[in-house]
Amino acid sequence: MPLPLTDRFGRVHDYLRISVTDQCNLRCLYCMPEEGLEFMEKSRLLTADEMRSIVAAAAKLGIRKIRITGGEPLVRKDIVEIVEAVASAPGIEDVSLTTNGLLLASKAEALKKAGLRRVNISLDTLDPAKFVMIARRGDLAKVTEGIRAAAEAGFSPIKLNCVLLKGINESEIADFLRMSHEKPLHVRFIEYMPIGHADEGWRSLYLPLTKVLEVAGGMPWAFERIPDVKGNGPSEDWRFEGAAGSFGLIHPISDRFCENCNRLRLTADGYLKPCLYWVDELYLKPYVGDEEALTDIFYKAMAIKPLNHEMASKLSGEVQTHVPTNRRMSQIGG
Ligand code: SAM
Ligand code: SF4
Repeated sequence: MPLPLTDRFGRVHDYLRISVTDQCNLRCLYCMPEEGLEFMEKSRLLTADEMRSIVAAAAKLGIRKIRITGGEPLVRKDIVEIVEAVASAPGIEDVSLTTNGLLLASKAEALKKAGLRRVNISLDTLDPAKFVMIARRGDLAKVTEGIRAAAEAGFSPIKLNCVLLKGINESEIADFLRMSHEKPLHVRFIEYMPIGHADEGWRSLYLPLTKVLEVAGGMPWAFERIPDVKGNGPSEDWRFEGAAGSFGLIHPISDRFCENCNRLRLTADGYLKPCLYWVDELYLKPYVGDEEALTDIFYKAMAIKPLNHEMASKLSGEVQTHVPTNRRMSQIGG
């Protein structure tokens, strides 16, 4: 039995996030420039079969959970085949997917049948005009339809990802919290991270999540910490008394994030990233089909994985110890 994927700091890795494309049907202002990016050539993207082979090798090293992400994973025409390929790899126990929800209504059933267990849907605002301001295109109603279709298809829990932006959706924190009281949804507030960019724009929109607990304190219900809602995230979870759902905080900048890190990331063009934040990546794609070589690369990722990201020092302007990635979030997968 091969040794589990353990890094120099004793963290065991059982979770792989796979970005299946860098393309997207939105241009969220915190994720991608308005004009888009130079997208990867289709021929460079991993195929469903290549993902199957990588996941099978990873599962032998103890990877049990997979999250499919992007770019927008549902713009891949073969997304159902990808889910099937990954979910059927021996040893994989849980496959989930993060989506902006625009195309979910038509695909939820087929994805469920293919073996997808859970979905996270990104939703930063409940206001249709603000949606277009943040995502720079698209239609909030389609996302709402997607959420409904996911519930009808039987996905549970359904998590909503809400990136908080100072002065933009800050005023909607109470509405999202109320939603977590009324509906069986888990609303996750996420701090805006400087991934692939850390300019003044980021600084001016970054909002620490302490704000959410302040607003929660002014709501009419008491709330308490609950054990992590099923998933693999570094989220701190809470529930209001009598609530149908719950809410969570993901605060990579203002609070701990890395200490229990159990994840690796695979980019759509086949690079393995030990950490979301730093530049280091290992090229896996050429070794697909050679299990021994893939295994070596996974162990190498463990050997070079750093203890922490240093996003907080980006905010305070301190010198960083290492080189941050130049990929944007849409090219990594979050
Ligand atoms: N397109 C899908 C979506 O939007 O859900 C999946 C890919 S997206 C890169 C994955 C998650 O990363 C989304 O929930 C998105 O809101 C989040 N995200 C993107 N850029 C971010 C940033 N700079 N800081 C924090 N979260 C970010
Ligand atoms: Fe696309 Fe998701 Fe990035 Fe928005 S957050 S631009 S939906 S990849």
